[in-house]
Amino acid sequence: MRICIFWHRRDLRTHDNAGLAAALASGLPVVPLFIYDKDILDHLPDRADARLTFIYDEVEKLARETEAAGGTFLARYGQPLEVLEALVKEFEVATVHANEDYEPYATERDNAVARLLEKHGVDFYLYKDQVIFAKDEIMTKSGTVPKVFGAYLKTYTEKLTDEMLLPYGSAGDFTKANLHPLSNGKAGPRPTLESMGFERLEQYVPVADLPAEDVVRNYHHTRNTPALQNGTTRISVQLRFGTLSVRQVMRQAKALNQKLLAEIIWRDFFMMLLWHYPNTATESYDPKMRHIDYRNNEDEFQAWCEGRTGYPLVDAGMRELNQTGYLPNRVRMTVAGFLVKHLFIDWRWGERYFADKLLDYELANNVGNWQWMAGTGAISAPWFRVYSPDSQLEKVDPEMKYVKRWVPEVGTSKYPAPIVEHKFARERSVEAIRAARIAAV
Ligand SMILES: Cc1cc2nc3c(=O)[nH]c(=O)nc-3n(C[C@H](O)[C@H](O)[C@H](O)COP(=O)(O)OP(=O)(O)OC[C@H]3O[C@@H](n4cnc5c(N)ncnc54)[C@H](O)[C@@H]3O)c2cc1C
Repeated sequence: MRICIFWHRRDLRTHDNAGLAAALASGLPVVPLFIYDKDILDHLPDRADARLTFIYDEVEKLARETEAAGGTFLARYGQPLEVLEALVKEFEVATVHANEDYEPYATERDNAVARLLEKHGVDFYLYKDQVIFAKDEIMTKSGTVPKVFGAYLKTYTEKLTDEMLLPYGSAGDFTKANLHPLSNGKAGPRPTLESMGFERLEQYVPVADLPAEDVVRNYHHTRNTPALQNGTTRISVQLRFGTLSVRQVMRQAKALNQKLLAEIIWRDFFMMLLWHYPNTATESYDPKMRHIDYRNNEDEFQAWCEGRTGYPLVDAGMRELNQTGYLPNRVRMTVAGFLVKHLFIDWRWGERYFADKLLDYELANNVGNWQWMAGTGAISAPWFRVYSPDSQLEKVDPEMKYVKRWVPEVGTSKYPAPIVEHKFARERSVEAIRAARIAAV
């Protein structure tokens, strides 16, 4: 019997899933698939990775859900092209459906998959699912890529209708009638963490549910207080892996808190920018900022990574990141600003470190925010602005509740002296960047 494969990637859910809904409505029996991409897994820094553990648990949940509904779930470990080629040879695959992914690696992979499937006479369909407006759906009046968030946000919210946030009916259609039970043994064993050479590492991830209503209602008052556990929504991991749908979280934010809605729209904005400028994943957007003579001192980088800079908010943040894989946005900004301006280290070093550590690591958001802090991006804080980490501390954690949680020795002789003096560091980076910009003209 001819089948339709639905390929889950960063959309690990059956509810409100655009591509899955289309697959289930296609009239062909659906076999869901997940591929543990060897090319990505080979680059993970450790054999015990909390993100892979999270993905693995979610894939297993999907498999159990599919089997309970009377279908079969395929999971494979390998290179996506090889896995898909093997599957189209083994089964009578008529179509493959998936949701769009806008990262440079993913768009190249999907172009190659489209060519491969075409060769085998299989139709490949991609759907917009992880954002509301993608690619060039929002442009400036003169047809250029938006680079001012305020203007983008205005157009975005004017175009955003309640209908756009309605859920896709994939959950209701996820039934025996639309799924395909492959005959016994045909699905093959699903990979385990061990069989892929990994170990379990569990870090705290909030359950895959919407944030509590009071968290959303108070968000604009609490978002910059890192001592509060519920000061922000903590939905970033779910959005990263698609265990929550962006429509769900936007519906809630649109009804209850415009500030939160705007923050979620930053995510669409950075994905849009990365899609237009894939080179900015690894190089500064602004050509005048591409040849800065960063100091890149290895020992100082190490002190930053380990939270030993002598600046309490920076150290607390880095220690929280190392221990939990999470960091509140305000503290991300502080540690990032400190690395690129005070230590004057290339933003790409920090971006890579975050990529290794963050549970919610998202290329577009990470690169976009790092370039913002470094003053190198399509949209940035002015390059000459250097925030004082101590002033930040006074603003966001005046009683040092957050700092003391992560740096108990603060204020004692065990705590190091500041690695560099703020005013000196500010002048050093501003002068070096100014010189690089003049030289680039
Ligand atoms: C240097 C730096 C690196 C960052 N790297 C990442 C990253 O790798 N992955 C990531 O998801 N976010 C990143 N962010 C953005 C932001 O810090 C996190 O999204 C947020 O802290 C996650 O916690 P939350 O879900 O409680 O956020 P909330 O404040 O509750 O916001 C809700 C959602 O809105 C989106 N959002 C909020 N702020 C931003 C922002 N500044 N940019 C883009 N989207 C935003 C996120 O999807 C977030 O989950 C980074 C920020 C900085 C300054």
